Amino acid sequence: MRKYSVFAIAREALRGHKGWPAQWSSPEPKASYDVVIVGAGGHGLATAYYLASEYGITNIAVLDKGWLGGGNTGRNTTIIRSNYLYDESAGIYNHAMKLWDGLSQELNYNVMYSPRGVMMLAHNVHDVQVFKRHIHANRLNGVDNQWLSPEAAKAFCPPLNIAGNARYPIMGAALQRRGGTARHDAVAWGYARGAAARGVDIIQNCEVTGIRRGADGAVAGVETARGFIGASKVGVVAAGHSTVLMDMAGVRMPLESYPLQALVSEPVKPCFPCVVMSNTVHAYISQSDKGELVIGAGTDQYTSYSQTGGLHIIQHTLDAICEMFPMFTRMKMLRSWGGIVDVTPDRSPILAKTPVKGLYVNCGWGTGGFKATPGSGHVFAHTIARDEPHPINAPFTLERFRTGRLIDEAAAAAVAH
Ligand SMILES: Cc1cc2nc3c(=O)[nH]c(=O)nc-3n(C[C@H](O)[C@H](O)[C@H](O)COP(=O)(O)OP(=O)(O)OC[C@H]3O[C@@H](n4cnc5c(N)ncnc54)[C@H](O)[C@@H]3O)c2cc1C
Repeated sequence: MRKYSVFAIAREALRGHKGWPAQWSSPEPKASYDVVIVGAGGHGLATAYYLASEYGITNIAVLDKGWLGGGNTGRNTTIIRSNYLYDESAGIYNHAMKLWDGLSQELNYNVMYSPRGVMMLAHNVHDVQVFKRHIHANRLNGVDNQWLSPEAAKAFCPPLNIAGNARYPIMGAALQRRGGTARHDAVAWGYARGAAARGVDIIQNCEVTGIRRGADGAVAGVETARGFIGASKVGVVAAGHSTVLMDMAGVRMPLESYPLQALVSEPVKPCFPCVVMSNTVHAYISQSDKGELVIGAGTDQYTSYSQTGGLHIIQHTLDAICEMFPMFTRMKMLRSWGGIVDVTPDRSPILAKTPVKGLYVNCGWGTGGFKATPGSGHVFAHTIARDEPHPINAPFTLERFRTGRLIDEAAAAAVAH
C-alpha cells in the first residue's frame, strides 16, 4: 500500500498524477475463507479491517451486492455524536468517538472528521426536560453535553431564528461540542484500503442469495451470484436488508425497514458553523466542505425497500428549516435521495452472536449508525474473532427482545440520528 503523505502528493504532482495505485484490488472470489462479511458498508469494512489489524485474521471476503459504500454509508448526513441516554449506549457511541479522534492517522486516509459541535434544539417543555435529563446522564458517563439558553444557542449558531412567535419556538438547546461530521465515502474507502492492504478480498457486485448450513446446523458458507463461497464464520452487516439475509439462515429478526431521506442545497460560502438537529420537527442540518447545506428528514411512515421516500416528508423538513433559519428561504435544493434503515423496537442496535453457530449479526442501527462505524466494527471484529461479545457490545443482544432487557433509546429520545 502506498503511504499518502505530502511528499507523495508532491511527487505525483510532478508526474501528472499517473503513479497512484488502485486503492484496493477487485479479486475473483476464492472457494472459501475463514470469515465472510456480507455488506461492504462502513460497518462491514471496519469489521474486516479490525479483524485483520487487531486479530491477525486476513483470510476474509467482504461481499456486496452493489458497490462499496453504496448503501446507507454513502447516503447519510454524517452526524457524529455520543450523547445518548443509557449507559450501554454511552459505552458504544463513546467508544466510536474515541476512535474517530485518531482515525485519519490510523488509516492514513483523511476521513475529514470535524468535531464542530452538534446542537439539539428544544421546542417545548417536554424537549427541555428530556435534554436536561440527557445532559445529567451523559455527564455521569463522562460524555460532554451542556445546556444552552436560546441566546447562547444563537451565539453558537448565528443563523438560528430565536424569535418567540415561531411555530417551533427555541426554548434552549443541548450542545455536544465534541460532536460533528466526517466524510462518509472517505470512511468506507479508508477502511477498504486498509483492509485490502492486509489481504482482505473486497468483492463488489456479488449478491448473497442464500446462507448454507451444515448437517450440524452451523454455518457452512454463502450462496452468491458468483457461486458458493465456503466459510465457518459469516458476519451479516447489511443494514436495511438484514431481515432478508437473516431469513436465509432461518433467523427471524425484530426489525422493520423504512426509507429515510436526505437532500443537499446548491453550494454556498461557509455560513453554517455547526450541526443543528431538531427531533421535534425532525430536521437536521450542517454545511459540507463543498458548501452544500446537508439536510436530513424523518423516516417515511410505512415500511418499504424503495430507496426514494415520500416528497411530503422532505417538504415538511424544508418548512421547518426555513422557519428555524429564515436566511435559507431562497436556497435552491440540488439533490435528494433515500436509504433503507433497519429499525429495532428500542432503536438500539444488535451486535451479537445468533442462535446459528458461526453466524453473527451487526444491524439495527436505524437512522443513526454512521457515527458508530469505527466502534461498531471494532467490537464486532472481537465478537467474530473470539466467538464472544466484547464487554461494550455484550448488552446489544438479539435475546433482549425476548427477555425484555431493552436499551430503550426510542422512549428516551424518539429519534436516533
Ligand atoms: C438519509 C440517511 C441519513 C442518515 N443520517 C445519519 C447521520 O446523520 N448520522 C448517523 O450516525 N447515521 C445516519 N444514518 C444511518 C447510517 O447511514 C447507517 O446506520 C449506517 O451507515 C449503516 O452502515 P452499514 O455499514 O451497517 O450499512 P450500509 O452502508 O447500508 O451497508 C450495507 C451493505 O449491505 C449490502 N447488501 C445488502 N444486501 C446484500 C446482499 N444480499 N448481498 C450482499 N450485500 C448486500 C448493501 O449493498 C450495502 O452496501 C442515516 C441514514 C440515511 C439513509
